[in-house]
Amino acid sequence: MTQTFLQSVNRVYDRSAAILNLPEGLSEQIKLCNSVYQVRFSVKIQDKLHVFTGWRANHSEHRLPVKGGLRFAPFVDQQEIEAMAALMSYKCAVVDVPFGGAKGGLCINPKEYSVDQLEKITRRFTQELAQKGYISPSLNVPAPDLGTGEREMAWIADTYRILKPEDLNSLACVTGKPVTQGGIVGRADATGRGLQFGLQEFFRHSEDVKSCGLSGSLEGKRVVVQGLGNVGYPAIKHLVKDDGVKLIGVAVHDGAVVNENGLDVNSISEYIKEHSGITGFPDGKYISQPAKVLEVDCDILIPAALEGQITKENAHRIRASLIAEGANGPTTFEADEILTSMGKLVIPDIFLNAGGVTVSYFEWIKNISHIRFGRMERRLDEVRGERIVSLVESMVNKSVPENIVQSMLFDVDELDLIYSGLEDTMRSAYQRIREVWRARKEVPDLRTAAFVLAVEKIARYYQEMVGNNQ
Ligand code: NAD
Repeated sequence: MTQTFLQSVNRVYDRSAAILNLPEGLSEQIKLCNSVYQVRFSVKIQDKLHVFTGWRANHSEHRLPVKGGLRFAPFVDQQEIEAMAALMSYKCAVVDVPFGGAKGGLCINPKEYSVDQLEKITRRFTQELAQKGYISPSLNVPAPDLGTGEREMAWIADTYRILKPEDLNSLACVTGKPVTQGGIVGRADATGRGLQFGLQEFFRHSEDVKSCGLSGSLEGKRVVVQGLGNVGYPAIKHLVKDDGVKLIGVAVHDGAVVNENGLDVNSISEYIKEHSGITGFPDGKYISQPAKVLEVDCDILIPAALEGQITKENAHRIRASLIAEGANGPTTFEADEILTSMGKLVIPDIFLNAGGVTVSYFEWIKNISHIRFGRMERRLDEVRGERIVSLVESMVNKSVPENIVQSMLFDVDELDLIYSGLEDTMRSAYQRIREVWRARKEVPDLRTAAFVLAVEKIARYYQEMVGNNQ
């Protein structure tokens, strides 16, 4: 029988908890979702009441607020939301973001509603969640996920502000807002950029690269991407531009296109915008079943669309050496075992797609501190740079070359700070994960290593809390 997403997550958890030898009660406390709120509400659309079902699951409240995306999709169900809430707890722990994990979902096909109707539905859903504390700057902070984006986050922030006008920090009740509405520059591309920084760090460790049969750097590696949305598009765009990878296959909801000679990601993206899909894209071989793209011969496969894409049915046919998970839960537990037995390596979701929550954390800090990053230091840095340049010039009695002056007076803006914080976060997290993987013989792969790292941190937190309460 096919396992559910939640069962798959819990099996990795069980394996990691066994390695850590956690006491049973503590292990249960960490594994199980703390609370799940299911809500049904109705909205009047064209004189008819439409009833909607939504969830918000708080997996672990060892740190507050809990954090996690809000998904609008017709297939959303409770076990999927709980699975993703659990992944959020582990993800935050892996990248040292001081939040617990949560996730929310609304069972809806957004394409069936007009923008005005979606706004009405989103605002009503926000009210339902906020009045029970499932949206709040200090308790529970959603973000975009499948089917939601900046627009929905702006509606949520505005509805919360109207509900709680006295809350000075109301903007921090949700992240992923438009920059003009309290958002942060770089959030839209953050998950994709994080994936790029994570892959770059992986390729700095030749021993790890060798272990899946690859060698060298990212340059020239043949890449296939499933999903070209918030995660997949910025990831592949930057990997092509900055690291010289070759994109040879792309799948979206209505099919896939493959071309061994290389595909231009910008042309594909423009084409999809214009035609609402990839069908008919002229520059490659069209495959009507998008999942078939997973089986294309390539070096790196980036599943960045949906969960449960690599399963025990198709895992044997995966030809990529490295699987870089952009989506949440794209590989099932059984498929993971098959891939490992085939000598392939999976860089797991709870590390590789953590760029979104990392930059969301920066946005939340900006909102509660009510000041843009770098605003206080910018001029001071410039003056400091000028002083150093003139000091050096007076000491050596020579002019400092213009390119060096420019690099010292480099005008650091908010985006530079955000991406340097993100890059540092992804690089250090990978180093910690590989240390666990290399140091502990019983840890078979990078996913288990990431879980061991995360669960150990959360367990320490609970143990210290229990100790302090006695
Ligand atoms: P999105 O809605 O922006 O994009 C989804 C993409 O997947 C689209 O290109 C769509 O055409 C494609 N797609 C849909 N069904 C498909 C199918 N059956 N086969 C192939 N392609 C298909 O979603 P997103 O925000 O990019 O999220 C994608 C995944 O990444 C999800 O698992 C999500 O939970 C995860 N994730 C998102 C973020 C974020 O910041 N948005 C952060 C971490 C993880």
